[in-house]
Amino acid sequence: MNLILFGPPAAGKGTQAKRLTAERGYVQLSTGDMLRAARASGSELGQRVAAIMDAGNLVSDEIVIELIDEALTRHAGAPGFIFDGFPRTVAQAEALDALLARRGGKIDRVIRLEVDSQQLMDRIARRYAEQGRADDNPEAYKVRLDAYFSQTAPLVPYYERQDKLVGVDGMADVETVAAAISQTIGT
Ligand code: AMP
Repeated sequence: MNLILFGPPAAGKGTQAKRLTAERGYVQLSTGDMLRAARASGSELGQRVAAIMDAGNLVSDEIVIELIDEALTRHAGAPGFIFDGFPRTVAQAEALDALLARRGGKIDRVIRLEVDSQQLMDRIARRYAEQGRADDNPEAYKVRLDAYFSQTAPLVPYYERQDKLVGVDGMADVETVAAAISQTIGT
């Protein structure tokens, strides 16, 4: 079972992906986590993407597609993958379809976490106060939301056409959202 958790930054994708990983043994592939790890390691890639990420912009398709390609190879044989924060552009979605097809797989379901913008802003303000992530500052978050609406939202019709998109109310508490996701995936 290969799932995409889809939604704007702070919709709860990471939280729900971690639960599914713990409960079902799926492998979470978060390009944001991979890029933050690259930065923390001080690698050349990490240095290249640091300023782009802090400003709230998307890094190039080429970079994240390469990261996903490597991770799929590294975790070959996993019972399923949860893509979190990837794909974020139509080019990434097309590349993902091709990467999975090459391995005899496909995306089974795209779960869209629906959260209104007021709650997103509240969550980010809280996360910024608690964790101080540079790209959660109000200016960078606005750029991230703009990137979501202009570059990522076109994935909605992309996956609707493939009949894979399922909406879940992301405003409820973590447990309720998790139960709704489990219901859409089945056992
Ligand atoms: P996230 O933790 O998913 O919100 O990602 C944090 C930041 O990493 C984003 O604001 C982008 O700068 C970068 N990033 C993560 N995933 C992608 C992606 N799929 N495409 C482009 N940039 C990404």
